[in-house]
Amino acid sequence: MMIVSAAAPRRDRDHKILDGKALAVEIRGAVAERVQALKETGWSPRLVSIAVGETDAAKLYIRNQKRVAEQVGITFEERFYPETVSRAEMLAAIQTLNADHNVTGVIIQRPVPPSIAIKELQAAVHPLKDVEGMHPASIGNIVYNDLALGPCTSVAAVELLKRTGLELKGLEVVVIGHSEIVGKPIAFLLMSEGATVTVCHHMTRNLAVHSRQADAVFVAVGKPRLITGAMIKPGAALIDIGINQITTPDGGTAVVGDADYESCHDVAGWITPVPGGVGPVTVSILMRNTLTAATLQKQHYESQFAGPSF
Ligand code: NAD
Repeated sequence: MMIVSAAAPRRDRDHKILDGKALAVEIRGAVAERVQALKETGWSPRLVSIAVGETDAAKLYIRNQKRVAEQVGITFEERFYPETVSRAEMLAAIQTLNADHNVTGVIIQRPVPPSIAIKELQAAVHPLKDVEGMHPASIGNIVYNDLALGPCTSVAAVELLKRTGLELKGLEVVVIGHSEIVGKPIAFLLMSEGATVTVCHHMTRNLAVHSRQADAVFVAVGKPRLITGAMIKPGAALIDIGINQITTPDGGTAVVGDADYESCHDVAGWITPVPGGVGPVTVSILMRNTLTAATLQKQHYESQFAGPSF
């Protein structure tokens, strides 16, 4: 069965499209240069991926992460654990990685088996090695406007908005979806940029009343084509974080976002395609975070072992 993009750009040079692939390449280029410079100081970033249980869903992501890591000069190590692994064994494995100076980043692939709480695993990762930006300390930091290690998908989505050139200070933004891993962090990142942010969710009474007011709309809901062109203001920026696999009328499969691309494209000033929008940028941000984490560990180490200054 062929998986096709239902959001293929309709014109060769469509200036409305916020091209995630192009931005991802740009970020990777900058990261590769800085990784090289860090290596010249004797520090080599090493990212360890942890996958637990049936990993078919994660395998594609892991392969992609490994490919991008290698492109930017980051060592990527895959570790797989059986579904039967205990919570205690997983926590011990993470503690070992925390203590290993050669490991500078840890990523826990989703999903994990229901017997293991992913939040507990994420909280066990040392905050300086939390390249996903999902540790409670990292989430807390973005509330304090410390954005060094923000959650990858949310940072990627905000980076795409920045590509529009819109002034974020005072921008009216609506974020649809308030999950801990996507919607809420996006709202905090935007507030730290000075935007005026409204957050909507499944209990919001009249979604369109809010979304039509916004200069920029972020949608991270997991409902195919929830947002239509009639729900956004003409000229608004639309950042679609949703990834939904649907069955097409011919029995094939397609990946679509949370926005109805065709109708939104006609109304929006800028729009992210799905796939090819937030997804590729997310992987590049993961690598940027891995570089940042290694740099922070180097600084931490040097501050611990610097001799007294007389
Ligand atoms: P989630 O299920 O944790 O949260 C869904 C959110 O949508 C909730 O806040 C809920 O209140 C809200 N919601 C549900 N129905 C709604 C409705 N009818 N109107 C308004 N709000 C509604 O989902 P999540 O983990 O935040 O993921 C959201 C989407 O983003 C999914 O499609 C997921 O696949 C995608 N995603 C993409 C990336 C990426 O890298 N591009 C990463 C993570 C998640």
